[in-house]
Amino acid sequence: MRTRRKFLKECGLMAGGTGISYLAAGAIGENFAGKGSAGMVLRFRPYELQLKHVFTLATSSRTTTPVMLTEIEFDGFTGYGEASMPPYLGESHATAGDFLSKVDLTRFGSPFLMEDILDYVDKIAPGNYAAKASVDIALHDLVGKIMNQPWYRIWGLNPDRTPVTSFTIGIDKPEVVREKVLEAAPYKILKVKLGQGNDKEMIQSVRNVTNTPICVDVNQGWTDRAKALETTHWLKEQGVVFVEQPMQKALVDDIAWLTQHSPLPIIADEALQTISDFKKIQGAYSGINVKLMKCGGMRAAFIMMKMARAMDMKVMIGCMTETSCAVTAAAQLSPLVDWADLDGNLLISNDVYGGIKINNGKIILPDAPGIGIRKL
Ligand code: MG
Repeated sequence: MRTRRKFLKECGLMAGGTGISYLAAGAIGENFAGKGSAGMVLRFRPYELQLKHVFTLATSSRTTTPVMLTEIEFDGFTGYGEASMPPYLGESHATAGDFLSKVDLTRFGSPFLMEDILDYVDKIAPGNYAAKASVDIALHDLVGKIMNQPWYRIWGLNPDRTPVTSFTIGIDKPEVVREKVLEAAPYKILKVKLGQGNDKEMIQSVRNVTNTPICVDVNQGWTDRAKALETTHWLKEQGVVFVEQPMQKALVDDIAWLTQHSPLPIIADEALQTISDFKKIQGAYSGINVKLMKCGGMRAAFIMMKMARAMDMKVMIGCMTETSCAVTAAAQLSPLVDWADLDGNLLISNDVYGGIKINNGKIILPDAPGIGIRKL
């Protein structure tokens, strides 16, 4: 392996860069499909996450989540990434495999050409945001490792400003909800899923056990704006701090009315996938929930957070059920947000990485280069 100093020089980051091209970076690893024989090598392999509890939202229930684990290897460094694909988002092992097979990183001489590389990946096909995120995250990890710095430091963010993370309580019977809430005792805020007609029962089951602040995620489950407003007032009395995606994302006018009258901030999740969706939701919400799998990765997430601040909106960072890879990547951005919901790795029983830690509910960023993860 070249020395880091020599490497940075060759990448043109130091005076007198030589623009030397790069040769083969290594063989395709076991169980990984890969593309490319020179320069950067992208590998990927499907994996199935096992959830600790059946996870029920307003629209679906499931016990597993398909993910695609990616690696980009270059000059002896390896960056890790991940695509998490809950079925309702429309991606799968098949679609991600198909997309990633088309990604040819050998055409780029340096991983530092991040804008060129990620623009190229974005243009390969529309959609496929989780698959795109898996390349974006691996590339960020790779570049951070070459620079020997974590991304929060490259971005100039203060690691002491990380928020507490919420812990998610899915829709369930009162006795199961109470059990989950007891399990979540170390967390300073609980995210309670609503929208299946038993909202008051859900909140009362939580309140029977704890006074911890709650945020609620309706996952588009409410249908009537007047009833939604009434429920929002009741939720405020119950110590709820914000409401996420109360109604169908298409009901922009009703949601704008609710936001205008609501005593609580109304946050867009399903209504806002990526940067281009901002114009659809302008004026209709108080804030946004940014997720790497929705927007295509760390680059887009950073831009969306800056856009939201420019529009005087609240910012939240969320995740899917994911390994510590994607969750720790998202956590790199967490000093920029008002609220974080980064518990996806805690909801699974077969994580393959270590990274983010939670101490008394607060996110602790690893002091390690790249996205800060290690293989378990
Ligand atoms: Mg949500």
